Amino acid sequence: MTNNDTFLTQTRTPKIEKWLRTIEAEITPMFGRGKVADYIPALARVNARQFGMAIALVNGEQYTAGDAHTLFSSQSISKLFTFVLALKIEGDAIWQRIGREPSGNAFNSMVQLESERGIPRNPFINAGALVVTDILTSRYAHLDLALLSFLQRLTGSANLNWSPEVAKSELETAHRNMAMAYFMKSFGNLANTPQAVLDNYCKQCATEMSCAQLAQAAMFLANDGLDVGSGDQVLSPEATRRVNALLLTCGAYDAAGDYAYRIGLPLKTGVGGGIVAVVPNVGTIAVWSPELDAKGNSLIGGYALERFMQLSGWGRLSLTM
Ligand code: GLN
Repeated sequence: MTNNDTFLTQTRTPKIEKWLRTIEAEITPMFGRGKVADYIPALARVNARQFGMAIALVNGEQYTAGDAHTLFSSQSISKLFTFVLALKIEGDAIWQRIGREPSGNAFNSMVQLESERGIPRNPFINAGALVVTDILTSRYAHLDLALLSFLQRLTGSANLNWSPEVAKSELETAHRNMAMAYFMKSFGNLANTPQAVLDNYCKQCATEMSCAQLAQAAMFLANDGLDVGSGDQVLSPEATRRVNALLLTCGAYDAAGDYAYRIGLPLKTGVGGGIVAVVPNVGTIAVWSPELDAKGNSLIGGYALERFMQLSGWGRLSLTM
């Protein structure tokens, strides 16, 4: 019996619909408690009162709620996919340029960069993601197209794109990220010009996906690195386990400890209000609601994930060998 078979005998999937309806009802009064990201002007224009959720199982089933098919700006969720691409290119050599410890600081903080000589704490804070983008900028003449084609294969959707409006809006206001890029360049930890890296970074952050697409895109992380739809072994099972460990410890910035306590899953958040979480051997959960908490994570999204874990008991599944 495989782990997947074990899971299917242990859960009663019709209940997933019920859990989603419960969560939808519970989150409705929560609109207005958070704040849509406004430091990127184009994101401030998003309608705040939206909520979507998608559950994808390794057996191919998918369950959705609310605005699960509405496109939203992936923002830092893109860092997960660019990191996977860079890891495939660099392997363990990537750890000479980026650390793998939680930063305990805001996603856009610069404070550790000086004492740690331009080596960012982890690949998911902005500084680390900029180094990842630098690696990919050296490798791909058109990183935006390379990332889109990777995501198109993973989602099985041919029509993914990045928003020129959001990318332009972020680039025009990217003073802090630009400063970080120059700072790392001064330490020799950027091969390309800060302008070229920022241009690619803003495009990758502007990539748009729906919850339904995002849940599919991350599915290989729940499945030992194998993307069933395309048949691609995206990462080895060992590398997949390690990416999930990084997502658990660093995927929600300085709220990673709180998220691990409340939700307990490898996950990645973004200031567009999306979160994608991995339940190894079971499936993925994508959730989106644009209002953020003080740390830049989706307020309702975090609540919905916590409630889903409570209702489903998935985090309590014991592995049968
Ligand atoms: N594009 C955003 C930035 O660099 C991404 C941040 C995020 O989603 N946390 O500020």
